[in-house]
Amino acid sequence: MISLPIADPSAAARDERPGVSGLRAEELEAWFAANGEPAYRARQVGDAVWGHAVATIDEVSTLPAALRTRLAEAFRFDTVVDTDVRLTEGGLTEKALHRLSDGALIESVLMHYPARAAQRERHTLCISSQAGCAVGCPFCATGELGFGRDLETAEIVDQVRHAARRLAVDGRRLTNVVFMGMGEPLLNLDRVLAAVDALNDPRRFGLGARHITVSTSGVVPGIRRLTALGPQFTLAVSLHAARDPLRDVLVPLNRRWPVAEVVAAARDHAAATGRRVTYEVTMIAGINDTEVDARAMAELLRGDHAHVNLIPMNPVAHTPWTASPDAAIERFATILGDAGIATTIRRNRGQEIGAACGQLAAERAGEPAPAVVARRRDRLVAESAHALRGERSDEPVPAGVDD
Ligand code: SAH
Ligand code: SF4
Repeated sequence: MISLPIADPSAAARDERPGVSGLRAEELEAWFAANGEPAYRARQVGDAVWGHAVATIDEVSTLPAALRTRLAEAFRFDTVVDTDVRLTEGGLTEKALHRLSDGALIESVLMHYPARAAQRERHTLCISSQAGCAVGCPFCATGELGFGRDLETAEIVDQVRHAARRLAVDGRRLTNVVFMGMGEPLLNLDRVLAAVDALNDPRRFGLGARHITVSTSGVVPGIRRLTALGPQFTLAVSLHAARDPLRDVLVPLNRRWPVAEVVAAARDHAAATGRRVTYEVTMIAGINDTEVDARAMAELLRGDHAHVNLIPMNPVAHTPWTASPDAAIERFATILGDAGIATTIRRNRGQEIGAACGQLAAERAGEPAPAVVARRRDRLVAESAHALRGERSDEPVPAGVDD
């Protein structure tokens, strides 16, 4: 593993001031009350935070200068220190690399979907919940980086505010947020829930729960906690394989929560919330795209209120693998469809979001030594061959996954 890059060593001490976008309106008001300031001032700050017109507290000209200074001492108006935006696909995709106060690098990806037929234009942002990820899925650029740290609530929300600010310049609004960037959201669930609350709250970001999707690699206790809370957003589960030996390799936390437990938890979630669960399958040639795999998945999901997305692997991490050919993906989709499971093949860029996230941070981390890459590839060849013989992995559960 490569340790997460620290872009700016001089900024390595974490800024301890709370990010203002991580506070509930009552918490902000409480600070103003405790500091002898009238409540309407708290609302002015709230409007500035959520109005997407200004980037720093100093631009909030309706506040007295002395108050701005005190606020700047107490809070961070923005927890993102620096952002580097890269446009691709003729400007339809904007990849942002954000630097945080301790130098940690995270990514968000903004995708524009022009209006089409009956569908209005959409602007979807894919955000990160952690710097790096402990789960270590081998096909994922973030998984290859390893775990850096959990993001604070405001660090999650501020990725959204940044995109909203960029859109606001042209009078556009964000329509969807997906937690499919760096990190495993259900391993930072308290902060993710607080961030969703901020995004959802009409007094703050005001985005409807139906426009928010959280993707998990299968943290069963987290899914169960979400079920108990009731519908908050759409849940997506990264399935990738229905057979445990293969899923042990592709999603290493399967060694802790096997696929049947994950699907049972997702099924209960769908039943309790009335919301269909989405399953994501990254299609890897000759690894998880065979007829045997399709049949196993059809059996596993038969009768469920589920929707499966098949996404060709984007070759971003150092693996011995390539994306499945179209014919294999189509055959897989047909087998699922014949079993009555709603299935969509995602070929367009929007569905590559997960794959896109982690790429820029990985680039900054630098290319690992050829010998390290060769060892990683050999290990993956050996592990997948073992799995395809039907043998469970004897590798440990990744550190940091079950605590
Ligand atoms: N940790 C969560 C959310 C972030 S990953 C999870 O795994 O669900 C978001 C999605 O991107 C996941 O479905 C993941 O499997 C997918 N993904 C990661 N790397 C990919 C790649 N190289 N090609 C295609 N999809 C990838
Ligand atoms: Fe983590 Fe998701 Fe990447 Fe797996 S796919 S390493 S869980 S970010």
